[in-house]
Amino acid sequence: MDNNNPYDVIIIGSGPSGLTAGIYTSRGNRKTLILAGRKWGGQLMLTTEVENFPGFPEPIMGPELMKKMREQAAKYGAEILDVNFVSGDYSKKPFKVTTDDEKDYYSKSIIIATGADTKWLQIPGEEEKIGRGVSSCAPCDAAFYRNKRVVVIGGGDSAMEEALVLTKFASEVFIIHRRDSFKASDVMQKKVFDNEKIKIIWNTAPVEIKGEMKVEKIVLKTGITEKESGIRVNAQNQEKEMSIEELGGQKLEASGNEQMWEFPTDGVFVAIGHIPNSQIFEGIDRDEKGFIKQYPESKTNIDGVFVSGDVHDSRYMQGVTAAGYGCQAALDVEHYLEME
Ligand code: NAP
Repeated sequence: MDNNNPYDVIIIGSGPSGLTAGIYTSRGNRKTLILAGRKWGGQLMLTTEVENFPGFPEPIMGPELMKKMREQAAKYGAEILDVNFVSGDYSKKPFKVTTDDEKDYYSKSIIIATGADTKWLQIPGEEEKIGRGVSSCAPCDAAFYRNKRVVVIGGGDSAMEEALVLTKFASEVFIIHRRDSFKASDVMQKKVFDNEKIKIIWNTAPVEIKGEMKVEKIVLKTGITEKESGIRVNAQNQEKEMSIEELGGQKLEASGNEQMWEFPTDGVFVAIGHIPNSQIFEGIDRDEKGFIKQYPESKTNIDGVFVSGDVHDSRYMQGVTAAGYGCQAALDVEHYLEME
């Protein structure tokens, strides 16, 4: 593409954040290119029914919602290419962006909206049951587990939050954690310890997810730390040694100190963190976990390069918050272009 006729904005990413930004900039008559990626649409493409996106009183399927957002951006003139971003030259303006089909595009501004991927356990049975009992979003999926039994994996604030949300629907919630203490904030831990529906199974690792069409069981391994031999359950803030059999589990084979168990569950909520898609943005400031640092007005450390959505937001990570950040970044880009 011609660097004498640059885009006003190139948006990298096509989840709710990137597409919302594209709706705003193109509708604002800004020449907009969205580099959607070869797998376009982001996290919502991996979900089934979405019940908490405003405007849809009846559930909408995640991919259908993303298709509508894409159509809306295209309708107002955004050019959308299903190619991957490879690199950016932010040293002079217009910025140069190179894609994996070896083309260069030039733009007066950039919005990075590449999102974050769920960190999955990567154990057998997990991938094929995503959306069929394996989830990473309790606010999205908890309502499907009314009066059911679920496990949450993790020991950070996300795991605490997922478990607490699930207690509103599920009959029993187990947090499985690989150590004997949580890294979550005290206030979140207290809420979990005080909740009578939650039992914590310490020093235990998930090793496999089983089930025919949907999740039926999770295989757990105990004896993974030096500190314990069996299972220590924390229920209503009272620690006690308990056999997993008392919780409905079944003993499988043992090897040395390690003991395997089959534990019945209707759902597995994985809350072990996220991986922001930020590694490809050389020269853009990131925090210690890899999230892009957002300065006021959606700015990054490079003037003219903006960021929106889960690639900078490690806290909320919802479709609707990502969309909100996309709107914010688009308005900030508009202001930036006006001041040029
Ligand atoms: P996190 O703080 O990084 O915690 C991840 C947890 O998952 C850790 O307990 C870790 O165990 C465990 N884990 C990691 N890999 C694992 C694996 N392969 N198998 C089993 N367990 C594994 O991530 P997060 O909870 O998503 O939180 C991210 C950030 O968002 C944090 O800064 C958090 O405070 C913030 N946040 C805040 C709120 C809130 O305030 N309401 C809500 C959600 C998130 P170890 O402890 O052994 O390392």
